Amino acid sequence: MTSADGASRWAVEARGLGKRYRRRWAVRDFSVRIPAGAVCGLVGPNGAGKSTLLGMAGRLVRPTAGSLQVFGAPVSGTSGLADTAFLTQDKPLFPRFTVEETLRLGRELNPRWDQAAAERIVRSGKLSMAARVGSLSGGQRSRVALALAFGKRPRLLLLDEPMAALDPLAAHEIGGLLLAEAAEQGTTVVMSSHRMADVATMCDHLVAVDNGRVRLAGEVDELLSAHLLVTGVHLTDGMPAEIARHTVVESRAVGRQFTALIRPRGRVEGDWKIAEPGLEEVLLGYMRSPAAPPLLTADTRIESAQNQEDEEGAA
Ligand code: ADP
Repeated sequence: MTSADGASRWAVEARGLGKRYRRRWAVRDFSVRIPAGAVCGLVGPNGAGKSTLLGMAGRLVRPTAGSLQVFGAPVSGTSGLADTAFLTQDKPLFPRFTVEETLRLGRELNPRWDQAAAERIVRSGKLSMAARVGSLSGGQRSRVALALAFGKRPRLLLLDEPMAALDPLAAHEIGGLLLAEAAEQGTTVVMSSHRMADVATMCDHLVAVDNGRVRLAGEVDELLSAHLLVTGVHLTDGMPAEIARHTVVESRAVGRQFTALIRPRGRVEGDWKIAEPGLEEVLLGYMRSPAAPPLLTADTRIESAQNQEDEEGAA
């Protein structure tokens, strides 16, 4: 979709996207869109397909099936190349370069380089421009890598586990820096993370993947408020009839105590204690229940054969 000023409303649009390595699909039937301006967490267990998805958006991995567009430009073409910056997990920097030389390389490689932004990021960490990259701490190296990424003035910044190697203090500092710069430049951010605390504090959108498929997509608040956590006493075996009427993501019974994570369809009848679940409860519920139907909020849903089938199944 294109708005009146010609800018795409969607930073990322995947339709039936797939990637196969030999005989195994790492990503399959993946259809989702991420609105421009979002700070989107890409979450899921190890091997879920997060790096493969980021790699396809960053043009490092070629899709096997479907289509993928970044700000309306197909990743298979050459237009929009400079729109995306990708920070991989190993944050490749030359250890023998000084910070200043690292930024100079960024400037020489990128026609729309923003030296002021890159220097601001470095200096706000009280880093010396003369320091050698190899002598920096993990947090400081992340700062230099972010300076390089934001210096490119990307419209979309892809980050693969940006906080994984950082201690909690450095993760907090780098997370704050990332959000401030993204807001300042109006950058859309898609970051993979297995740390739910990072996602909960930083991201306004979420795409959860498991086994190469999308399980949840949408605004975090909207996803949370679509679910209820229901607890109570249940004396007989099996699912209580008044709960079974709703979409049950996960349920368990310990003795007479029954708990379920549901997507309510209308009022929940009966004598149940009802609460809104937290992000961790919702994510874990979907990861533990591969058969639970995926939820994509209206904003993130995009037509594909797969989603149409899902909708017909839910109707
Ligand atoms: P995540 O980032 O969520 O941990 P990945 O995208 O790295 O997941 O991997 C998804 C699946 O694809 C895994 O089963 C992984 O083993 C497989 N895979 C990833 N990259 C390759 C590759 N280059 N060759 C073969 N299999 C791969």
